[in-house]
Amino acid sequence: MAAGNSELNNSFEIKNEKADMKKIGFIGTGLMGRGMARSLIRKGHPVRIYNRTRAKAEEVAQAGGEVVDTPAEAAKEADVIVTMLADPTAVLAVVEGAEGVLASVRAGAVMIDSSTISPPTTLHVMKQLHAKRAHMLDAPVFGSKNEAEKGELGFIVGGDREVLAQVQDVLDCLGKTFYVGSNGMGAYTKLVVNLVIASSLHAFNEGMVLATKAGIAPELMCEIIQSSRAKSGIIEMKAPQILKRDFSPFFPLRLMAKDMGLVLDSARGLGVTMPFTGVLNEVYSRCIADGLANEDFAATIKFLEGQAGVEVRSSNGNGR
Ligand code: NAP
Repeated sequence: MAAGNSELNNSFEIKNEKADMKKIGFIGTGLMGRGMARSLIRKGHPVRIYNRTRAKAEEVAQAGGEVVDTPAEAAKEADVIVTMLADPTAVLAVVEGAEGVLASVRAGAVMIDSSTISPPTTLHVMKQLHAKRAHMLDAPVFGSKNEAEKGELGFIVGGDREVLAQVQDVLDCLGKTFYVGSNGMGAYTKLVVNLVIASSLHAFNEGMVLATKAGIAPELMCEIIQSSRAKSGIIEMKAPQILKRDFSPFFPLRLMAKDMGLVLDSARGLGVTMPFTGVLNEVYSRCIADGLANEDFAATIKFLEGQAGVEVRSSNGNGR
């Protein structure tokens, strides 16, 4: 990672015309982070943006903010550091790396980690930040890229209530907050939400492949499911995309696979038996081996279709 220049180092002072707006270091402008960073910029926060692939940070900075070359530069002088990264490895690289957050974070700053990662990684990062007299909240989100752009995500927050109160104004720019307890509780809660979402959609996918093979029209099958007690929000969101055969990623399959692995790690750590999740995890591994990693996680249906020799598609091609 290249060193920053002095103009960037002074950017917070130059841009921070609204003295009451917290200075934000935003790290990770992927599918979700780009919308979150833009929401903060839109609300008037001075934002320093870091992304491993610089071009994605530069795209966000068209809305405002300053692109920097290292996580350390993003964190330097920031009141709040928001991280939105793929997985535990990414969070550790950004926090502990040679030019990571720990190299520059100031005492009293708060890191809000919205990545979905393992509870042990969250606690490890929290301890490292505490050693620098900084704070951390685990604040993974529900909602997807559209909600990120609109500032309408749901944040599932673990950490000290006083620390949350300190940064509530920042979270309010991004969506609603649900406080669940001490550090790590946000991470556990999010994994449970994703397990239920992945399971529901996968059951739908298996059912739709069976129905199609049996000769039932997919649109009618969907209508009946959504009129019954089987109705679900994730089916409402994904069924039209599946019937249109649009698997462009809202939530990439590789990330849901990562979450199923984290659920199983958590289950092992807590002594909980989860046989069904084990099978689901294997399905995700097969899908990745089949080249579906970067498609939306709804694409698990392609693996099932391949086995059954049918395709679930609407007759008129528009998903209805
Ligand atoms: P994404 O588009 O894949 O973005 C991942 C981000 O992590 C990118 O900024 C990427 O940088 C960075 N990254 C990955 N590995 C890294 C490493 N080793 N070092 C530094 N940076 C690294 O994923 P996303 O959809 O925005 O998701 C981000 C997090 O939110 C994930 O934990 C995901 O599970 C969670 N989430 C996603 C959704 C959703 O609908 N997409 C919803 C809720 C929660 P590059 O750009 O350089 O690759």
